[in-house]
Amino acid sequence: MRDYIRINQPCIDKEELRAVEEVLLSGILTDKNGMGPRVMEFERAFAKFIGVKHAIAVSSGTAALHAALLAAGVREGDEVVLPSFTFSATAEAVVLCGAKPVFADIDPETFSINADTIGRVLSSKTKAIIPVHLYGRPADMAPILEIARERGIVVIEDAAQAHGASLGGKMAGGMGDMGCFSFYGAKNMTTGEGGMVTTSDDDYAEALRAIRTHGESRPYWTVRLGHNYRMTEIAAAMGLVQLQKLPRMLERRRENAARLSEALSMIGKLSIPRDPEGGSNSWYVYTVRLIGANAGRRNKVVEKLRSKNIDAQVYYETPVHLQPFYMERFDLRAGMLPETEKASRQVFSLPVHPMVEPDDIEYMANTLRKLIR
Ligand SMILES: *Cc1c(COP(=O)(O)O)cnc(C)c1O
Repeated sequence: MRDYIRINQPCIDKEELRAVEEVLLSGILTDKNGMGPRVMEFERAFAKFIGVKHAIAVSSGTAALHAALLAAGVREGDEVVLPSFTFSATAEAVVLCGAKPVFADIDPETFSINADTIGRVLSSKTKAIIPVHLYGRPADMAPILEIARERGIVVIEDAAQAHGASLGGKMAGGMGDMGCFSFYGAKNMTTGEGGMVTTSDDDYAEALRAIRTHGESRPYWTVRLGHNYRMTEIAAAMGLVQLQKLPRMLERRRENAARLSEALSMIGKLSIPRDPEGGSNSWYVYTVRLIGANAGRRNKVVEKLRSKNIDAQVYYETPVHLQPFYMERFDLRAGMLPETEKASRQVFSLPVHPMVEPDDIEYMANTLRKLIR
């Protein structure tokens, strides 16, 4: 039997080890309220990569989302529009602000919310919209930004899966008012745990830096509610190396995805992912949808793939609006979001991370071909 092909895997080598060792020996593990030398350098490099004025490093992607919503002034009485077809952290950050998450249905092509589905749930209480670039495929941002601008609504991109994705000449995380990234161990680049908020707005940047460290505008001087969302120097040192490697890692993902698409396109009965027109996917995972007679066999196919050492995963089997806490707290039920619920029954994801080799791709395609014939 082949080695297990994990859905995602960090690419760590001697460079990260050296960078982390250097920090550990330097004696400075965190500094200046989370603005130590490595954190500052990582922020500058990340802002440049995304093409924005500021990047604020934080302790996780969830912290990034929560801090961005707080910086946007989201609070009790406000509504925030977001997809239910996402990791629960997106909605959790809204609830942590005391605001109400309002779920919009997805576009079946991008798996993200779009201007049309958002338009159906906007209200006078809508304070922010959070498009999620799910699986690394950018949401269709231009029309979303247009309706938000018209109504003075803040747009916060959840780019936790989309480091390096782009659309219309802009990077994911550089299109809305703020962008939120995660550096969790399974993401396109990692610091173990970590996150980043990107923005070109000076006021948001100042607010985010305060929120990151107890709402302090200077040491021991709290001017607003914040948190301890600081990133360590250890994580930042690792992030700097990972960011340098990111273009190469994305290229490997892209090659793997192209190879897998070529092998799977012959099968039919499968809807396969692509790049958006005028942009590129970051290929966090390669997500297919079973169609036709196979549509109801998703769980069986995933189980079989896993028994063949292919770590197929379902993102997300239970959309957020059908998870117990959200159903109860916000009075939600099945049937409210038909495209989301349909996708949650039909999709599954395959690995295309940089450690996946061409013969792994061939093995995955052949195995899948036999299962859905
Ligand atoms: C990973 C992820 C998050 C949360 O990031 P953490 O670093 O795990 O807190 C938020 N949203 C999406 C879409 C994610 O994939």
